[in-house]
Amino acid sequence: MRVAKRVESLPPYLFVEISKAIAKKRAQGIDVITFGIGDPDLPTPSPILQALHHAADDPQNHRYPETEGLSELRAAIAAWYKRRFGIDLDPDTEVLPLIGAKEGIAHIALCFIDPGGVALVPNPGYPVYAMGTMFAGGESHFLPLREENNWLPDLDAIPAEVLERATILWINYPNNPTGAVASLAFFEEVVAFAKRHDLVVCHDNAYSEVGYDGYEPPSFLQAQGAGEVGIEFHSFSKSYNMTGWRIAMAVGNREVINALMRVKSNIDSGIPQAIQRMAIEAISGDQSVTTESAAILERRRDRVVAALLRIGLRVQKPKAGMYVWARVPNGMTSIDFARRLLEDQAVVVTPGNGYGAAGEGYVRLSLTTPDDKLEEGLQRIANWTAG
Ligand SMILES: *Cc1c(COP(=O)(O)O)cnc(C)c1O
Repeated sequence: MRVAKRVESLPPYLFVEISKAIAKKRAQGIDVITFGIGDPDLPTPSPILQALHHAADDPQNHRYPETEGLSELRAAIAAWYKRRFGIDLDPDTEVLPLIGAKEGIAHIALCFIDPGGVALVPNPGYPVYAMGTMFAGGESHFLPLREENNWLPDLDAIPAEVLERATILWINYPNNPTGAVASLAFFEEVVAFAKRHDLVVCHDNAYSEVGYDGYEPPSFLQAQGAGEVGIEFHSFSKSYNMTGWRIAMAVGNREVINALMRVKSNIDSGIPQAIQRMAIEAISGDQSVTTESAAILERRRDRVVAALLRIGLRVQKPKAGMYVWARVPNGMTSIDFARRLLEDQAVVVTPGNGYGAAGEGYVRLSLTTPDDKLEEGLQRIANWTAG
């Protein structure tokens, strides 16, 4: 058997290594507390589950769905966009439901990256931007996100010869893993840059509904001219505690949406319709679920940030997202810190370099740890001297 080069060259998925270390500890009877993976611990709200129960009984939902999704879902997404962001979208040409944002993010590369083509990819960043690019035969040119630049990319630093070959620019705010947010002014700079260099902008807005202290993350499409150059990914996963149901959407420029639809129609056969019914309920129903979840995460954020400051780490309170990003003590690597915390206190954090080389020197703590475990984990961190 000869495995394709693209598979052989896959880096080991960071979380697999961590899972192994956790499993080993647990096998020894040790209670491991994890701030590792960003998967909401809160359940899917019951009105959304009710919609699934109803839809499951309807034989219409037992057949192949359409790639473009139910028209009611596309209309509900467009109506939400209008209410939430004041943006008008044509539900038939500017909205496309997805089997999770991850799916759309991976597949968009097939639409705009030819072999040898280039995508501009933030580093640290969600790994799928680079993986999708690689599967399409392209290369990622990494844009380092740095603390001194508020974790925004320095677009002017991209070499001209790279820009000539580049077709996609990835951005993601509220950002995973750094917790940074971006202003509309930054999005407007991105639009101007994309027009100048003929780039498709893909904005990953998976955390638009997870804002703290009254902050409401903007849409990229609110920037003047954004609809001419790009699209935005949203997900029901983080907004409605629906990671397990796999549903999301891409919205924006119709040519981009159409290209993604055409690729997808040759790969998948759409989203199970009963799950589309859940999404309609989620996005059209009472939105207090998102504010209640955000309030729980906000309290956790404050607890985590306070505990990290107390042991002397450099950390900022994120305004949005599900993560706290902390600088490890001088003289330690991300891996040293994560490994020692796991060995000494059986607490898991994610080493920042797992999101790209520019994440070295940082660790990420996810706020999706249930409250009692979170308190126990913070107690262990308080009892520990890192340096
Ligand atoms: C969680 C996450 C996603 C994936 O969302 P799904 O809809 O569950 O696939 C995409 N982008 C970022 C930055 C994420 O953190």
